[in-house]
Amino acid sequence: MKAAMKKKLLILGGSGEAFALDKALSENTAIEAITSLAGRTSLPRKPIGPYRTGGFGGVEGLSAYITREKIDAVIDATHPFASRITANAAAAANLTRTPILHIIRPPWQHQPGDSWSIVPDMTAAAAALQPAHSPAFLTIGRLELDAFRPRTDLRFIARAIEPAAGNSAEPFPDNFAFIYGKGPFDLSSEERLINDHGIRAIVTKNSGGHQASAKLAVARKHALPVIMIDRPKPPAGTIVATPEDALRWLRQTLNLNPATK
Ligand code: NAP
Repeated sequence: MKAAMKKKLLILGGSGEAFALDKALSENTAIEAITSLAGRTSLPRKPIGPYRTGGFGGVEGLSAYITREKIDAVIDATHPFASRITANAAAAANLTRTPILHIIRPPWQHQPGDSWSIVPDMTAAAAALQPAHSPAFLTIGRLELDAFRPRTDLRFIARAIEPAAGNSAEPFPDNFAFIYGKGPFDLSSEERLINDHGIRAIVTKNSGGHQASAKLAVARKHALPVIMIDRPKPPAGTIVATPEDALRWLRQTLNLNPATK
């Protein structure tokens, strides 16, 4: 008897949820999952299963990939702030009539003792900083730091995974100092870093999850102000919060026997 063809799943990755999904499906006999990584860092964490790296070339390129690779379903497990790829994925899935699910982890919630200023974007975050917030800890990654260049009145400690590659990026002025590191970050190392640098305020995206939340606990403990950049608008399609929910959706959508490993 001819063996049943595996269903093909495209996981748009770059988040802990994408790696969890890849791991959960790595021995699945009914689904072949391929993870797509953006390729922003030089030494990315690698999935267990097959993966590809780099942009697709917009909606058109992603639609062509889905068609060429005969993808049966797409799970967008990109970071909650990666709104361009999320929008592209929704549009490409619509064009190719491919089922799509978005995993969006819940945002961090304000807790008693927190001193948050919630702002809509990076420009508003830069404008919200007061002179008393210097030096401010920028934990927003490397790519959106330009919004803070006009604040020559403040000092910044910016954390990124690694320095910018090549010489293309305009060098940052002396009021920016860089530290490099990749999460997860724990409470004691975050507290040490914040104390050692005399940090007076933290600027962060509301990424949610546990990997980068320790700095918020330190801010609460030391009554430090936090400039919290709010989530972008979520996509219009189906959204779940966890990889476990995504696996349930996948079984239903691809009509798989719940017992299939
Ligand atoms: P973005 O602005 O939404 O996407 C910009 C472009 O990068 C997309 O149009 C696409 O290029 C390409 N791209 C993004 N994610 C991709 C993926 N998984 N596979 C293939 N191409 C991808 O994305 P971003 O905010 O720069 O984030 C890039 C990656 O870093 C994402 O995978 C995200 O999960 C991860 N990440 C982002 C953040 C954040 O704060 N934004 C934080 C942590 C991790 P084409 O149009 O050419 O297809």
